[in-house]
Amino acid sequence: MLKDQVAIITGSSQGIGSGIAKYFAKKGASVVVNYPFDGEAEKAQAVVEEITADGGKAIALKANVADEEEVTKMVEDTVKEFGKLDILVNNAGITRDSSVKKMTVENFKMVINTNLVGSFITSKIAAEVMASQGYGRIVNTSSIAGQEGNFGQANYAASKSGVLGLTKTFAREYARKGVTVNAVSPGFIRTPMTDAIPEDIRNNMINEIPVKRVGEPEDIAAATAFLASKEAGFITGQLLPINGGLNM
Ligand code: NAP
Repeated sequence: MLKDQVAIITGSSQGIGSGIAKYFAKKGASVVVNYPFDGEAEKAQAVVEEITADGGKAIALKANVADEEEVTKMVEDTVKEFGKLDILVNNAGITRDSSVKKMTVENFKMVINTNLVGSFITSKIAAEVMASQGYGRIVNTSSIAGQEGNFGQANYAASKSGVLGLTKTFAREYARKGVTVNAVSPGFIRTPMTDAIPEDIRNNMINEIPVKRVGEPEDIAAATAFLASKEAGFITGQLLPINGGLNM
């Protein structure tokens, strides 16, 4: 499905991102496992080793998605290593939860900066490379919180709603250049981000999900791979919710 494709997956040393990186490699893509800071290199390298041990192609590249210079270098290094860039998955994301009353402006801005500004910077730089090639696929990561809002997540929900506006605008601007831009909107997925939720709250949440389970990173990876494939060329500017029916 992704044979001979070159993909950058941001924030892919753990959680959904590492699931996407491994899935893409299995489907034939050469993968850049991106991580944000020097201290996180080992985790990213472990994902690369797992992929290569399985016969896939991957390298780890450091870049904070909110840093234009670092992202520019990551994209340049990707093209140097693999000769092109077909796919960008904007997966990197953070949370800093608290009620609106307790939320500091600093924490609001920090989440917007990584989740929304980071997606803008990475997409802007990658889209130009893709446009010059006449082909590209960008898949952004929104969230059910961005569709519905969520108690304690004003910053996160705003960033994830923003990702939708970003997706539709990039889709309009780059459609004629052969670049499609879509977003996935995960519901409750099993990752380090959600492992931190206390068990009783987690069980209550599962009870609300029509399919009666949490999602796995592979659920997101499979849908992302489809949107990132050549076969999805007539789909752009769309949001694909992946949430076990939690939001219909
Ligand atoms: P996660 O386990 O916390 O992983 C997030 C990844 O992003 C980590 O590898 C992290 O790297 C990386 N990252 C953080 N800041 C970065 C930056 N500035 N530049 C580059 N990478 C950065 O989260 P997850 O649950 O897998 O979530 C992945 C995406 O799905 C996020 O966008 C999240 O908002 C979205 N999502 C998740 C759920 C869910 O239920 N899990 C639901 C809806 C949406 P380090 O760990 O090395 O810092």
